Amino acid sequence: MSTNRSIRRNSQQRQVILEELQRLKSHPTAADLYEIVRRRLPRISLGTVYRNLELLAEQGTIRRLDAGAVQARFDGKLALHHHIRCQSCGSVDDIELPPLDLSGFIPQNTGGYEVYGHRLEFFGICPQCRKS
Ligand SMILES: [Zn+2]
Ligand SMILES: [Zn+2]
Repeated sequence: MSTNRSIRRNSQQRQVILEELQRLKSHPTAADLYEIVRRRLPRISLGTVYRNLELLAEQGTIRRLDAGAVQARFDGKLALHHHIRCQSCGSVDDIELPPLDLSGFIPQNTGGYEVYGHRLEFFGICPQCRKS
């Protein structure tokens, strides 16, 4: 009984985490999202939020930005899009781009790597930081 109940609770927690991430456009870290999810699930822990985000990213349900970073940001929007990052405060926003033809940039010599894809990220100063 208690096992069934905890499985149900786990999948409910994951659903809330996913819903809140998909509503946000801020590409939050696990800690950012924890502060928001807590309003709906007061007893959830930061570790649980983090584990669920990692799991959802592994399943391909969400995207994990900054692979390997401790303060990894997560993105609930799976459609192909690009990001711009503020060098001052670190905020990340989506950026609209016309479809790019990158066929000329496919590397001929990958040094033995099997290439799965590429990432294009812009950086600059966001409107908030430019004001101050
Ligand atoms: Zn900024
Ligand atoms: Zn995004």
